[in-house]
Amino acid sequence: MLDYDLHCHSAISDGLLSPAELVARAAERGVKVLALTDHDDVAGLIEAAEAAARHQMRFINGVEASVSWRNYTLHIVGLNIDPTYPPLVEGLHGIRNGRGARAQLMAESLARSGIGGALEGAYRYADNPSLIGRTHFARFLVESGHSKDVASVFKNYLVKGKPGFVPHQWASLPDAVGWITGSGGIAVLAHPGRYMVGRKKMGSTTLRELLREFVDSGGRGIEVVSGSHSSEQYAEFARYAKEFDLLASCGSDFHGPGESYRDLGRLPDFPLDCRPVWEAWEAH
Ligand code: AMP
Ligand code: MN
Ligand code: MN
Ligand code: MN
Repeated sequence: MLDYDLHCHSAISDGLLSPAELVARAAERGVKVLALTDHDDVAGLIEAAEAAARHQMRFINGVEASVSWRNYTLHIVGLNIDPTYPPLVEGLHGIRNGRGARAQLMAESLARSGIGGALEGAYRYADNPSLIGRTHFARFLVESGHSKDVASVFKNYLVKGKPGFVPHQWASLPDAVGWITGSGGIAVLAHPGRYMVGRKKMGSTTLRELLREFVDSGGRGIEVVSGSHSSEQYAEFARYAKEFDLLASCGSDFHGPGESYRDLGRLPDFPLDCRPVWEAWEAH
């Protein structure tokens, strides 16, 4: 079992727990090395690092940047970043900027389908209003009885072809990777299995083109063990890691009790042959 959890969210983005509560839960559940990777924001890292020190836990500064590549939305996790590095701070600020206008359009789209009050409803769930996103709308849609849980919201709403979906332009892949690596961090392609399902799924040829561009931009890691991967996918993405000479990362992608595929805590071991991403910062 791995006692590293290198992907999770606090209420600074779309998680349910404060950074300190998240760290306490991770400690209780046996995590020894934790990275907080909020979407497009580093505002939770100081509180989380202080809490980790109280729990004798090693803490890694992280972030999960939203990227548009071709017609796909991708997530790039940055690990061991310097959250004060100005291009990273400014880059993340730029990504966050578009979220308010997008939320307005999402609410208008839901209103056209007869669902009123979504903007106010979603903001009630956003502790950090500059990070308003689809999860906050999803919680509102559950609360107002339109869906039974967050997972079913993402089948009937907020996704392409459904009410509440608004296309959006995030950061470019080379920009996001550049901000992360420029700050001294390791850029990791998050949950690749998630891009290979659904209506517009990516095939293996496109994934290879993506990985080539990612590596050429300075990307060095790929999530092999992710809360949203099956055990077959651990093996599949271990093979891509080997093919592209990438370090393997692992993370639950926990958002909140009862809301995520996998809770914080120990994750299954990597398949054989994986080089763990922490080699990059533990070597020196
Ligand atoms: P946004 O960055 O506002 O587009 O929101 C993306 C977030 O929505 C992801 O980080 C997840 O937390 C959530 N999300 C997306 N798809 C799903 C899904 N199928 N089930 C549950 N949550 C999802
Ligand atoms: Mn999320
Ligand atoms: Mn993600
Ligand atoms: Mn995530």
